Amino acid sequence: MSIQYPAREHLANLPTPLQPLHKITELYSTPFGGPQVWIKRDDLTESAMSGNKVRKLEYIIAEAKVRGCNTLITCGGEQSNHCRATALAAAKCGMKAHLILRGAAELTSGNIPDGNLLVDYLAGARVSVYPLREYVSRLPELFEEWASFYQNQGNRALCIPTGGSDGLGIWGYLQCAEELLEDCRRVGFQPDRLVCASGSGGTQAGLTLGCQMLGADTGVTGYAVSDNEAYFIDKIQEDVRQWAEAYAQEFPFDSRRIHVNDKYIGPGYGIATEEIYQTIALAAQLEGILLDPVYTGKAFHGLLKDIEQGHYAGCRHIVFVHTGGQFGVFPQRAGFSACWADG
Ligand SMILES: *Cc1c(COP(=O)(O)O)cnc(C)c1O
Repeated sequence: MSIQYPAREHLANLPTPLQPLHKITELYSTPFGGPQVWIKRDDLTESAMSGNKVRKLEYIIAEAKVRGCNTLITCGGEQSNHCRATALAAAKCGMKAHLILRGAAELTSGNIPDGNLLVDYLAGARVSVYPLREYVSRLPELFEEWASFYQNQGNRALCIPTGGSDGLGIWGYLQCAEELLEDCRRVGFQPDRLVCASGSGGTQAGLTLGCQMLGADTGVTGYAVSDNEAYFIDKIQEDVRQWAEAYAQEFPFDSRRIHVNDKYIGPGYGIATEEIYQTIALAAQLEGILLDPVYTGKAFHGLLKDIEQGHYAGCRHIVFVHTGGQFGVFPQRAGFSACWADG
């Protein structure tokens, strides 16, 4: 079926490249009877706005304009890629950005902002950092308070949920599913499976819905980096339900197509272990690809482990969607100390 998209603000450089990972395949897949591994370079969607969130923001910002909004309010962790992309996209579109951040003091070196947070400030975003407990218990109120703050000043704010994942942001990865299936067709294969990191679920939701709508047998697996399988199965269905309602879509989404692997979260969201740092170094050294310790490093590590265990033995072609996150490497610089040999 052909998908009818709503208005979109052009921010990303699309299509992003689809590339083979020859050395990874040769060393970590072929010996285990695994598939050819490919990578969809959504880390190249843009330079500073890089990653998956800019695809969602193309639809979110177009909607903000339709609603006459001049301010974007969103939320996330202190090193949120989504908040950084929102801050930059707002600047480019002549809008204000207000970021509600969950404090993570251990990732900041003194009071000097690092990584994504540094870029937030450079982009002119207004930043409010809340302690974890207050953030978790009062997030809806914090959105309301800041929205009325802007309203009282004669502005109009659009509130964007965590990760831009809802029935609006899902369009970004519906479109990516279409783009990616076309990339593969052009190269001459049908992907058996797409793999991505799942944090707020919107990327996986869009890819899963997209593959079904486009009549592809391709399965989609999200490697969870935060919550468990039950959470994502619920969240993805909720995003699709919102999308169907808001855009009067009658499409019968098959929730059995939702595949979540929650075995590689490790100690928790944003916390990596030695093997994750090592996998990031491996990908950089073998393929010249930079993964991150919060999302893509964990998902890629999970993928390689599962290939090694024969989990993907029936697949011929697997595409890892690189969702970005490069700025998250630097605040965790201390974790990489064992990744290279001296002399
Ligand atoms: C946000 C993010 C993800 C997860 O995407 P969701 O749509 O929130 O599940 C994956 N990788 C990176 C680098 C991200 O910033």
